[in-house]
Amino acid sequence: MEALNQIQFNNQRVLVRVDFNVPLNGGKVTDNTRIKACIPTIQTIVKNGGRPVLMSHLGRPKGPSEELSMRQLTGELAQLSGYTVVFSEACVGEEAVKASRALEKGQVLLLENLRFHEEETKGDKAFAKALAQSGDFYINDAFGTAHRAHASTAIITEFFEGKCAFGLVMKTEIENVDKVLNAKEKPVTAIVGGAKVSSKISILENLIPKLDHLIIAGGMAYTFVKAQGGKVGESLVEDEYLETARNILKKAKEKGCTIHLPLDSVNADAFSNEANTSVSPIDKIPDGLMGLDVGKKTLECLKPVLYKSKIILWNGPMGVFEMDNFAEGTKQVAAFISEATAKGAFSLVGGGDSVAAVKKFNRADQVSYVSTGGGAMLEYLEGKELPGIKAVLLHAHRG
Ligand code: AMP
Repeated sequence: MEALNQIQFNNQRVLVRVDFNVPLNGGKVTDNTRIKACIPTIQTIVKNGGRPVLMSHLGRPKGPSEELSMRQLTGELAQLSGYTVVFSEACVGEEAVKASRALEKGQVLLLENLRFHEEETKGDKAFAKALAQSGDFYINDAFGTAHRAHASTAIITEFFEGKCAFGLVMKTEIENVDKVLNAKEKPVTAIVGGAKVSSKISILENLIPKLDHLIIAGGMAYTFVKAQGGKVGESLVEDEYLETARNILKKAKEKGCTIHLPLDSVNADAFSNEANTSVSPIDKIPDGLMGLDVGKKTLECLKPVLYKSKIILWNGPMGVFEMDNFAEGTKQVAAFISEATAKGAFSLVGGGDSVAAVKKFNRADQVSYVSTGGGAMLEYLEGKELPGIKAVLLHAHRG
């Protein structure tokens, strides 16, 4: 499959599915990270002779609404890209197609919110065909929605046989997660934390054969501790997953993956930052107390494991990091990963709350890569084939 920067577009209209699902306040973009991320893709298309037509969803509209109109993004897009932004009030139909044909050099066309049409999330083929009329070539650069088989992310590729490619955001996301999943260097370590075992089982099962070390932390660790006969007080436990936890431990042993469970736990008498706190071994939590963070002994043991690792994946916080009194474990692990990265390790932080955590502790620029795709990244780590990726590969442009 030919990479975007190799493709010559010869004045073709290049329809790009971007992820411009940005937060807004009073019509102003409050975080432009996602728009910024797509600028190199847009610039590459223009440099290679293409005319970019951008389409995205914004929020979860029930139908057309001013509050979720893409029009509000035109100023930010123009400023970040340096191009003149033309806006089409429709994403399909005559207005959109006309605007795409009229697009001149130095201009970028932005189509209205795809989700103003319920056919988008339904993956409607006729709607995908209508969207396809505004482009001669299709690029998917929306990793964040790649796990959805929507009209604009997957179904549309049928109308661009041999004329599909990944944008640079998508390519970078895939390459970085593949660096972990197909690691060439050892040791490979994953830290999987967060609230529940139930939402992480598939990730654990997919990762274990690829790992040397698996650090299990956060709320889910207590189910593993209880599964081995430990006393966890009122900590978060999913009793219906005790057997699953035992099976995961068994599988890890068979595959030569060392599991690290927390040794000590920071306990509280209520789920509150104001609660009284105390520390105990993780398997001896007194009745009436709940574990909300890992303790110092755990961190001392994890530090050398992370320092020795060549590849590190972090998904899910070590504790309830949103509350200052239970943030230390997550903060320290972010620091260890940063230090390991400075010593040459490759580190990927992906999937939801650990991304929020590295940002909160100002470590985002000290790790190798922070993924932009929450749910999509989780599904990729689970080993699933993402519809948005599969569809492009199936109809890819070959050099
Ligand atoms: P997840 O989305 O599964 O990665 O879970 C993230 C959430 O897990 C965060 O909001 C944390 O506050 C929460 N969490 C982490 N550790 C614990 C814990 N020990 N008890 C309860 N919730 C936790």
